[in-house]
Amino acid sequence: MLINKMDEKFIEKEFGNGKGAAKNQNLITDLIIRFDDMEKSINKLSDLIKGKRRKYARHLKKEDKLFIYNRDKNICQKCKEYFENTAFLQVDHIDKNKDNNNFDNLQTLCRKCHHEKTGEENSK
Ligand SMILES: [Zn+2]
Repeated sequence: MLINKMDEKFIEKEFGNGKGAAKNQNLITDLIIRFDDMEKSINKLSDLIKGKRRKYARHLKKEDKLFIYNRDKNICQKCKEYFENTAFLQVDHIDKNKDNNNFDNLQTLCRKCHHEKTGEENSK
């Protein structure tokens, strides 16, 4: 939602309840709906462009993992250690959203750092 409840309250305060308030309210409601529709369309398009709309978004393919390891040159992005064997590496979702498999949201972490990161996230 581009305009949330707070904004609605703000708009109500700004336009008051005097003459023409009802007309303004209708206009505002119409605008909110239009903005919401626009936002939904933009999100859909942006997802399509990024190739995010996959049937099984949660499942990260093996070739995708290998691509990330290769892009990061087998280097853990936290401790900067190099691992020749990818068995020591894991792909981490930077924004913590496991459904966001955009490559710019994925980074290589070693098992130790990944464990530390997810441990910190879970304890929050
Ligand atoms: Zn590490």
